[in-house]
Amino acid sequence: MPRNLFKLSAFAIALGFAAVAQAAPHGEVAAREMVHVATAFKGRMAGTAQEKAVADYLAGKFRAMGYQVVEQPFTSSFEYEKADKQKEKREVKSLNVIATKPGQDDKVVIVGAHFDSRTPKKDGDIGKIGGPGLEGLDDNASGVGMLLELADQLKSVKTKHTIKFVGFGAEELGLLGAKDYVARMTDTERSQLIAMVNMDSLITGDKMYFHAGKNTVAKDAKAGHARDRALAIAKKLGVAAGTNPGLNKEYPKGTGCCSDQEAFDEAGVPVLAVEATNWEIGDKDGYEQTTNKAIKDGMSWHRPDVDNVANLKRVFPNRVEERARDFSRVLTPLVIELAGGKVK
Ligand SMILES: [Zn+2]
Repeated sequence: MPRNLFKLSAFAIALGFAAVAQAAPHGEVAAREMVHVATAFKGRMAGTAQEKAVADYLAGKFRAMGYQVVEQPFTSSFEYEKADKQKEKREVKSLNVIATKPGQDDKVVIVGAHFDSRTPKKDGDIGKIGGPGLEGLDDNASGVGMLLELADQLKSVKTKHTIKFVGFGAEELGLLGAKDYVARMTDTERSQLIAMVNMDSLITGDKMYFHAGKNTVAKDAKAGHARDRALAIAKKLGVAAGTNPGLNKEYPKGTGCCSDQEAFDEAGVPVLAVEATNWEIGDKDGYEQTTNKAIKDGMSWHRPDVDNVANLKRVFPNRVEERARDFSRVLTPLVIELAGGKVK
C-alpha cells in the first residue's frame, strides 16, 4: 500500500472510531427511534408481550451505549369497567427499565418516559380507544425516542451527579411504573434525587412546553428551577417554547399535569414535565392538542386511527424531525447542567 494511501486509511479508521463514541447530530436518534418504537411495537399495552418487547428493546439500546441496565418488574392493578358498568379490579404485571450513568457524588437526576401505549379501560373503549392497533407515535413513542436521544447525547459526557434514564411501564393505567419506582425509594434516595425530567407526547401538540410540578412549587418556588432553565435555554437558542399560562384555575400557571412526573412531584421531588400540546384552547387544560382541523377534536390521544406514523407525518410534514431536533437542543444542555456537567 502506498504510504499516502496508508496514512489516509489510518485517518479514516481513526475517524470511524471517533464516530462510535460521539453523539449523533441533535434529533437524529430521536426521530428514527420514535418511528421505530411506534411501528415495530404497536399495541404495547401494559402487561402484554409487546410491552415486554419494547422494554427489552430499550434495555438493549441502553446497553449498547455502555450504560448499566436493570429491568425492574412489578405487579399492580387497575379498575376496569365492564359493559354493565360493573367495575372490577384487574391485576397487571409490568416493568420499568433503568439505565444508570454513575456520577461522582450521591445526587441523582432521572430522565424518564413511559413506553406503554393505551390499554382499553372499559368494554366501551374496545375497538376505539387504545388496543392492539394503536401505534402511539405521539403518546408515547415520541418520549421514548427522546429518551434514547438523550442517552446517546450524554453517553460520553462526564457529570458530577448520577443520571438514570428510566423507561416506565403501565403509565396509561394510572402512572403505575412511576408509582412503583417512587414506592421503592428510601427516604435517603428520595432526598438525593434532585430532579425528575419526564417526556410525554411531543409531536401532535401545537407548542413545546416545559412545566414544573404543582405540589413541589406550591411549597418552594425553587422547585421550578429546571423549568426556568429549560425556558431560558430555549429562548437563547431561538426555540419557541412556553409553559402552562394558567388560564384554567385547576392547573396553576407554570405547572403541568397528567403523566409520570406527578408521582415524583407528590413525593416532593422537583420535576420538569416536557410535552407538546396547546394550553390555550378547549378547556385550557392541555388536553386539546392542536388547532389543526385535520385532527378531529384537536386530539390524537389514544386513537389508533389518528396517533400513528402515517397520519401524523401526513398532517404535520417534518414535525417529527423538527421536534426531535428542537427538544434535543434544549434538553441535552439542560440535563448536563442539572447533573453538574460541563455544557459545551
Ligand atoms: Zn402518555
